[in-house]
Amino acid sequence: MPTSFFTANGKFHRGNLHTHSTQSDGVLTAQEVCRRYQDEGYDFIALTDHFVGLFDYPITDTTGYCNGKFTTIPAAELHTGVMENGNLWHLLAIGLPFDFTPPNAPHFKPVEGAESAADIAQRAREAGAFVAIAHPHWSGMTEADARTITAAHAVETYNYGCIVDNDRGEGFITLEHLLNGGRRLNLIAADDAHFNTPDHFGGWVMVKASQNTPEALLEALKAGEFYSSTGPEIKDIRITSDGVEVDCSSAVTIVVQGKGTSMATLHGRSMTTGKLSLSRLANSPWLRITVIDRAGKRAWSNPIWIGDPGEFPPEWGVNN
Ligand SMILES: [Zn+2]
Ligand SMILES: [Zn+2]
Repeated sequence: MPTSFFTANGKFHRGNLHTHSTQSDGVLTAQEVCRRYQDEGYDFIALTDHFVGLFDYPITDTTGYCNGKFTTIPAAELHTGVMENGNLWHLLAIGLPFDFTPPNAPHFKPVEGAESAADIAQRAREAGAFVAIAHPHWSGMTEADARTITAAHAVETYNYGCIVDNDRGEGFITLEHLLNGGRRLNLIAADDAHFNTPDHFGGWVMVKASQNTPEALLEALKAGEFYSSTGPEIKDIRITSDGVEVDCSSAVTIVVQGKGTSMATLHGRSMTTGKLSLSRLANSPWLRITVIDRAGKRAWSNPIWIGDPGEFPPEWGVNN
């Protein structure tokens, strides 16, 4: 088990993994979307236009807008299969080949007999993509729905566009149900920007990679070498003999969450490092960390897997 996280070589790159352009229902061209993200200080984006027949199944080519400081990962938001509530699935596939075979998804309504969401997620993963379950709350996704997507790498636990436009932007409960069922998934914050409302620059990932290239970013995403944020930075997380230490940008609260009601909380002023006991998390196989700043903005670590309940390292002194 690692005792320190973010140990990979390289630096953190700020990216948005969920965006739309005029290639589907966004209002800005792909070029202008890329310009705005770069000028807002992002290092990369994935343009995830809706992969439906209505828009001619776009995997928008943004390679012309990459330069020495900004890059893009070919991607799409996939739609096929039906959820328990009768709605069409939305899945993010980051790092799709341009020749990825479309499903039978002519528009935003499920088609009987079409490929299932679980199958297209698997196919996207096998084609090299990082796959995320999009906006579970807004979709009205059940836990059983979410469980079917066994190929997912992550759950989109914060969708800023949904926060802004329907106040149903969070997916932490979906993620935690899956974690508690033993699924090792990560989490992403993203914008889902269409630029028709103030739906942009609100949630992102910070990916630690040796180079700002699509290949290096994708590899780091799949390896979980990233955290998500709406503002604060997480600089390091260390597991020590008596708890967890977090280095971050100035924070007022640091929380460790685990299975069920297990938790640890540290409140303070302008904290740039915090140490929390894990004594109340002894029976959780996973931990995750939230950093909250004075403005209420948050950063979220990916879940850290410890092992089976009661199998914390003996030096933690919490196995009882
Ligand atoms: Zn969507
Ligand atoms: Zn979307």
